[in-house]
Amino acid sequence: MKHILSPLAYSFDALEPHIDAKTMEIHHDRHHQAYVDNLNKALESSGAEESLELEDLIKNISKYSQAVRNNAGGHYNHSLFWDILSDSPKASPEGNLLHEINKTFGSLDQLKADIKNLALGQFGSGWAWLLVKHNGTLAISSTPNQDNPLMDINIATQGYPILGVDVWEHAYYLNYQNKRADYFDAFWKVLNWEAVERNYELALAKAK
Ligand code: MN
Repeated sequence: MKHILSPLAYSFDALEPHIDAKTMEIHHDRHHQAYVDNLNKALESSGAEESLELEDLIKNISKYSQAVRNNAGGHYNHSLFWDILSDSPKASPEGNLLHEINKTFGSLDQLKADIKNLALGQFGSGWAWLLVKHNGTLAISSTPNQDNPLMDINIATQGYPILGVDVWEHAYYLNYQNKRADYFDAFWKVLNWEAVERNYELALAKAK
């Protein structure tokens, strides 16, 4: 099974001025495409007979090479990232997810502040996450490179990511240069909480 890159559900300029069109085009068509191409190559050269769906591959990533780990992570993480962004985003969560956020973090604003702190503290390239742990509770974490909380590797907090923020420089450098905090503030303006709510319900069903 070859992995393929899905087109974006919106145009490259849909998230302007928060995320600029050039960044979106390069990020999706070059960076994400390269993760997909290199994943296919790495799987082929590893001689892996079974070909797993992306999520199952991620869950069993410890059995694979570093090249598969980096590129499967890149493919999975970016697919999630594009899916939670929108030019007509739902501005805040409701229902079950909001209830759990308030219970776990105190408030939505506190959750945002906590994730931002993690993202700013992630040295070098990586991701910041809101995730559903395998016991069904919410948590936040950050991971280096293209790792993520679903990988069966030695990372602090494991579970299903439902919101991920790309803090590699390629995600923001054209428009924000070294100002990761400004990019992060802009991210919230195009984050579609409806998608995060959907991911939350799916993750809860899998966690149980
Ligand atoms: Mn990226």
